[in-house]
Amino acid sequence: MSQLSQQARLGAHAPAMFDPARFAPQYPPDLGLEPLHLAIDLWLDLAESTAQGSVTTLVQANRQGAQELTFDAVGVAIAAVEDGDGSALGWRADGEKLYVRWPQPFAKGQQAHVRVRYSVTAPTAGLYFSRPTAESPEAPWYAVTDHETERARHWLPCIDLPNVRTALDIRLRANSRFTILANGYHVADTDHGDGTKTTHYRLDQRCPSYLICFAVGEFVRYDDGVFHDGEKSIPVAYFCSPEHTPEDLEHSFGRTKQMLAWMTQKFAAPFPFPKYYQWAAPGVSGAMENISLVSWSERYVIDARLAAEWTYLLDAVNVHEMAHSYFGDAVVCRDFAHAWLKESWATYIEQVWREDEFSAEEGQYVYYDNARAYMIEADSRYKRAIVNRHFRSSWDMYDRHLYPGGACRLHMLRRELGDEVFWTAVQDYLKRFNGKVVETDDFRLVMEEHSGRTLGQFFDQWFYTPGYPEVKVTFRYDADKQQGVFEIEQTQVDDDAGIPAFSFQTSVGWVLDGETHIQPLRIDKARQICAIPMRGMPEQVRFDPRCEVLHKLDFNPGDDLLRRQLTGAPDVLGRIHAAAELAKTSRYANIEALVAAYRQESFWGVRCEMARLLGEANTEAAMTGIVALLAFEQDPLVLPDLLAAAGQYRDERVTAAVQARLEGELGYVATEQAYIALGAQREQAPLDVLLGAAEQPSFNGIIQGGALRGLASSRRPEALGMLLARVQAGATSLYARPTAVAALAEFGKGLERRERERVLETLIDLLRATHYSVAMAAARGLGVLGAPEAIGALETFARTRVTQEAAVVERVIASLRKQDKVDGSALQKRVETLGDSLRKLEDQVQRLQA
Ligand SMILES: [Zn+2]
Repeated sequence: MSQLSQQARLGAHAPAMFDPARFAPQYPPDLGLEPLHLAIDLWLDLAESTAQGSVTTLVQANRQGAQELTFDAVGVAIAAVEDGDGSALGWRADGEKLYVRWPQPFAKGQQAHVRVRYSVTAPTAGLYFSRPTAESPEAPWYAVTDHETERARHWLPCIDLPNVRTALDIRLRANSRFTILANGYHVADTDHGDGTKTTHYRLDQRCPSYLICFAVGEFVRYDDGVFHDGEKSIPVAYFCSPEHTPEDLEHSFGRTKQMLAWMTQKFAAPFPFPKYYQWAAPGVSGAMENISLVSWSERYVIDARLAAEWTYLLDAVNVHEMAHSYFGDAVVCRDFAHAWLKESWATYIEQVWREDEFSAEEGQYVYYDNARAYMIEADSRYKRAIVNRHFRSSWDMYDRHLYPGGACRLHMLRRELGDEVFWTAVQDYLKRFNGKVVETDDFRLVMEEHSGRTLGQFFDQWFYTPGYPEVKVTFRYDADKQQGVFEIEQTQVDDDAGIPAFSFQTSVGWVLDGETHIQPLRIDKARQICAIPMRGMPEQVRFDPRCEVLHKLDFNPGDDLLRRQLTGAPDVLGRIHAAAELAKTSRYANIEALVAAYRQESFWGVRCEMARLLGEANTEAAMTGIVALLAFEQDPLVLPDLLAAAGQYRDERVTAAVQARLEGELGYVATEQAYIALGAQREQAPLDVLLGAAEQPSFNGIIQGGALRGLASSRRPEALGMLLARVQAGATSLYARPTAVAALAEFGKGLERRERERVLETLIDLLRATHYSVAMAAARGLGVLGAPEAIGALETFARTRVTQEAAVVERVIASLRKQDKVDGSALQKRVETLGDSLRKLEDQVQRLQA
């Protein structure tokens, strides 16, 4: 699954989420009777939102005397359970599980079939039906599945955990006008002569339940030919609802074959499955690596205009899901504790692909972005070990520790072992475990075998221990002794939280008379001093210049050195670090230097970071810098970040500069950010512009969503009517409606009692919305609104949700319980006013000093 699905996750500080005292360790189930094959036969009625038929499981006894099998089957109506001959078997179902008992115990190795006849109607999760309704007249026809982590059980009686893997025969019957897709290769179509057909797909490889997938519905199609993989021919095709066109599909996924060519070569392994299809549907979230049939939210299908801004994102997700074909689909994580072996790997491959196909700088920037995303979660929510068994829902594991946190650790391992050893070992690992299940030790042992190293300490420290090194460095030059002295301190050490001083290999670097020097260094204490002979004061000094270790750095060797590093460092991380340290000083000359460096910076990613830093700087110089840069920047990859940074300031010059940009050519995402920035101008916000755009349907709801969010942050009373109207059924597209709900909640925070009550009631009503993205947005919105009055409604709502969504709602409830009665909106307004005056005051002081 992609990180796209994770976007709404960051919220309150949540230290208890992986608390061993609260959550029992989770282990994979015993396999006394192990399922080997599933034959799924279903008749799908999209008009009635029902599926009816049977699933036949071939089981094998791994243990003498096994006699019972427990299936996961939540909310499934069981009609009969039979053996291979059609004779009834003993069974009992309790709404969560189906217990089946054979009359005789199995002999070890013995195999048998069990057929469950059943039906489901509008399941809570796992299988999603859509058709045009009064609530969503534009909704397309489809019945699609989306499972990760434990949602298959809501429509398919199965053992719904990843150590159970089966080959598949999937036969789906539906209205003849629909496209029918499923895992594996196409076997046959049968026309029943009654307006229905059955399509049969077969997958010979064994597949865990979370990767089983089908999609039935009205789809447009783009055939991208065949990927020739040695002897094999892999058909490649893309599908989406009729809202988008085959050309949009080409814009979105057109680089797929190029990625397949790169990946099969990188892993020195043929593509493991018989086809590579991708489908998209609105109302599905993120993207998901189902075997040979990747699914996407249709929100990420792009057109020519969006391609300029989002090809980067689309390609990252595309290569991520493709990497799962190896890491996750062919080599399956035995249980959720080891899920990093798929998610960290797929995330890391995004970086490797960028590096190989574009440039070293592009790869470095993905690394930087991953490290930053991980540290934000670790610093603001919780620090957990990457390998972990204590959780409320397995879904909670799919966080920023698992994705970018683990990806950075893989990069470190590659640096530690060197490219040749690392990739040879990885290729061997993929080959050895193709078609098998793995745990962390399986991977470690292969890496050890190829490198001749013992990696126990590396894995213990980086995968089994929470936290990461937070490094504070100082540098001074001792002219008498002609040496540079680095003092290095690890400030993260926290015995209570089990966060140690880390031990790692790194280096320090310096530039003297234009020449670069590097000195390797082993860090293994909380505090270390390193004195190095230097014949003069260096022009630049660096810690970890070769990017060998994941860490957060606090190191300001002085404005002059930093300013040289800002433009002179050959690496992306060095320039970003200099920019961050200079911005931290808030000094006028440093901010000026940052703005000047922005103008000469050739790499777009560094400019994105500079924009963000200028946005956070809250100084007059930073604001005037942003205003000037708004007229300068032309790169569609950077403009959204620059506009977001502009939105940090409330000033008529910002309003004018953003509006000037809106008059020219601007992409969808940049326009979205421009509207949010305009809304942030509060009283100065051009309300007519925002109200007009909020009413206007837009491509994938992006611009409309920006206008709605802009209205919310404008805090203008005139916005309430529009926000209340846009959340209503049928008023807004499926893409923008969850954004409208979130915007309404955000807006509601600042309202007086009676109007706030209207918002509260509307959000409670929206908990009953048919589309789960809307209902979940309402649940989160009640948390944002800070509405303890809604706890009862949220508790009822949580009971109707699948475990992974219920866990999110439970955390909203917990945060509402904790909330005190401080009027947050009034307080925030005061903070803003103070911030604005502080910025102006500080500017005067700076001018006086200059
Ligand atoms: Zn993934």
